[in-house]
Amino acid sequence: MSHRERLYQTEAIVLRRSDFGEADRLLTVLTPERGKLRLIAKGARKPSSRKSGHVELFSHGRYLVAIGHELDIITQAETIDPFAPLHEDLLRATYAYYIAELTDAFTADRDENRPLFDLLKDALAWLSTAGDLALVARYYELHLLGLAGFQPQLFVCGGCKKSIEPGTNYFSVAQGTVFCPDCGGERPDASEISINALRVLRFLQTRDWATSRLLHLTPETQTEIEQLMHRYITHHLEHRLKSSDFVERMRALLTARPQTEAR
Ligand SMILES: [Zn+2]
Repeated sequence: MSHRERLYQTEAIVLRRSDFGEADRLLTVLTPERGKLRLIAKGARKPSSRKSGHVELFSHGRYLVAIGHELDIITQAETIDPFAPLHEDLLRATYAYYIAELTDAFTADRDENRPLFDLLKDALAWLSTAGDLALVARYYELHLLGLAGFQPQLFVCGGCKKSIEPGTNYFSVAQGTVFCPDCGGERPDASEISINALRVLRFLQTRDWATSRLLHLTPETQTEIEQLMHRYITHHLEHRLKSSDFVERMRALLTARPQTEAR
């Protein structure tokens, strides 16, 4: 083994944090250039640790990391943005936890995805201030799915390939696409989607957040798109992940999440 320490510097956002050994923490972080990493923060559970405040859940920081045998080790950490509101408000924390879990679920270790890092960083900032947290979650889900290769087709019928017109249309989570009335009506895997829900999903999928945040959804539409997205995500997680534990955890999280916003 080389005596020269091998180090790299990286920005990171903490997706998950667990105890490791007697005083250490194991972090799952998303980075811009190295994708998702598992890192050890040595001594981070000691009250005297200088690192502990910089490796909080959801916090965006800059680390100096030493390459280890199995897991790399954080040698220095500084906070860029702790996203403090996410720690002070239970509802915001719940949403942040949800998008962190979702990000973990749809990424592989060391798979670089800078747009996803930027999206996550932005979404944590939006969750820190937004009024409609559910809308942030829906926006994040759609854009995460797109960046992870699971983008739902919302404009063209999955059967005849014609543009979808207002009317009784269908959506199949298994096929990841909308179907027109002619193609969707007979499909056992497709269920009706309202034109309002379809419009909102298309809007969120194709617009930036500055535009999307101006949307005001009726409770009916909000519930419909939430349920549709959760069926879609659960379906694709089950196919992607071998660990049923993980899917169960996600399911519990989705169910536990507050269904309506306190305004
Ligand atoms: Zn069709």
